[in-house]
Amino acid sequence: MYRQILKEIKKYDTIVIARHIGVDPDALCSQLALRDSLRLRFPNKKILAVGNGSAKFSSLGNLDKIENLENFLLILLDTPDKKRIDFAGWGQAKMIIKIDHHPFIEKIGELEYIDDHKCSTCEILMDLIKKMHLPCNSQISRTLYAGLVSDSNRFLFDTITPQTFELVTYYLKNYPFTLSEVYKNLYMRPIKEVRLQGFIEENLNLTENGVAYIKITNEDLVRFHADSASGGNMINDFNFIEEALIWVIITEDIKNSNIRINIRSRGPVINHVAEKYHGGGHMFASGARVSCFEEAELLLKDLDAVAEEYIKVCEENENKNE
Ligand code: AMP
Repeated sequence: MYRQILKEIKKYDTIVIARHIGVDPDALCSQLALRDSLRLRFPNKKILAVGNGSAKFSSLGNLDKIENLENFLLILLDTPDKKRIDFAGWGQAKMIIKIDHHPFIEKIGELEYIDDHKCSTCEILMDLIKKMHLPCNSQISRTLYAGLVSDSNRFLFDTITPQTFELVTYYLKNYPFTLSEVYKNLYMRPIKEVRLQGFIEENLNLTENGVAYIKITNEDLVRFHADSASGGNMINDFNFIEEALIWVIITEDIKNSNIRINIRSRGPVINHVAEKYHGGGHMFASGARVSCFEEAELLLKDLDAVAEEYIKVCEENENKNE
């Protein structure tokens, strides 16, 4: 499949690399790294990484302006469905190649490389760039690592395999970079965010079946001088709460007139619930947007039911093994 992807890339003079709305480091870093590697390999092609950026991730690299697109190949990264493509002109592409690590939702491209056992799209690209002998340098290597580290929450998840470490070793060895630079770019934050985190910790609620959640209103955001993404960006900081199987950050977003929801789990599968509420994602890391806090309550009820079922099945299995 990698060979086929490269064959198609060679055919086009203009290549657009896009990813999902609501930019995150894996989506952004995968498109920047692939763009920069392809630019080194094909200096005469026009290769653009597009989509809305975010000031929070500006230190990871710059996106391109869309200009005079004709007869172009679209490489869509880290995006399982059409509704979340952050590039309005995607339908005009002559051909689409999708590379993703989300569970399959719908076919978008003529060529699709999907591996939902991989921790990140950056890991897939590490493999592709290495196997296809595409050019690399320390900056590309650092960008790929940043996306991988961010989406795997610093190697915490079971999607990390020996191959992940082999790839990281290969890039660190052959295209070295300073690890602390990566962590500084990803994790440095203003004190107002730390204070918001304290507020979340202090006010986290817990349902009967282990769903921890917080509702952050716009008033709260104003009080902490934070924006509607700030709370959700901290979702991975609540991984190891003994009583919580699922945890949810619910934030009012007055700019978009809706409610933003970030969900994580350490057991129950949650993406089906997120899908029911206009969202989606991975089995244990999902997100959604709902219209009001009342709808968020319904989502919480569904998550609580999923947690209850999970506990029941675990108990049954334990009893069988006794
Ligand atoms: P987040 O909590 O924003 O880090 O998102 C976790 C996962 O859920 C990522 O794979 C996202 O692509 C996916 N996701 C987040 N929000 C949505 C949404 N509104 N619709 C579909 N998928 C989403």
